[in-house]
Amino acid sequence: MVKYILPDLSYDYGALEPHISGRIMELHHDKHHKTYVDNANKALEQMDEGRAKKDLSKIAAQEKALAFNLSGHVLHSLFWRNLKKDGGGKPMGALAQAIDRDFGNFEQFKAQMKETAATIMGSGWAALVYEPMAKRLLTTQIYDHQSNLNQAGIPLLVIDAWEHAYYLQYENRKTDFFEAIWNVFDYEDVAKRLETVSRMNIDIPGTVSKAA
Ligand code: MN
Repeated sequence: MVKYILPDLSYDYGALEPHISGRIMELHHDKHHKTYVDNANKALEQMDEGRAKKDLSKIAAQEKALAFNLSGHVLHSLFWRNLKKDGGGKPMGALAQAIDRDFGNFEQFKAQMKETAATIMGSGWAALVYEPMAKRLLTTQIYDHQSNLNQAGIPLLVIDAWEHAYYLQYENRKTDFFEAIWNVFDYEDVAKRLETVSRMNIDIPGTVSKAA
């Protein structure tokens, strides 16, 4: 049986300082992310047991736990790869062109992502997603890890807006964190992901008008 596992970071905990402290990275990766991995596996084990015992009475709670924890695993795994030491600057190439096409320009995209992150009520994420029917980029405000999604959106770049992502360092100044993080984004990672999902051809015929 395949299990979900915690991926290693490709950089040291302190690599993203001063923008994200090493202590935040250590707790966030080793404790928070690990808990989502463990609980996603636990939900699947409980489903296995339920099928074996022909007892599906807990399936709704198990599905809810799986959606929350597996989505947490996906988003954190992506988040670590979206970040790098000495990142930032501006996207290039096809990613830059897609951002200009769908948001007007990079500054307008950045403002929209920051506002999406800053206006989350409670815990959640801001995400740049690829929508494969219209083959365009959208921003999405995700509640917790799994709610308020565009079902077709594939996340490319995400900002963790849970308090555990910034509070030790930024306290109540979360908009400072949502600005600082742009210094450590790895746009090459985002561009690679856009290239991959663009080639998937998973649009559904007849669902969008021709471009004007
Ligand atoms: Mn988190």
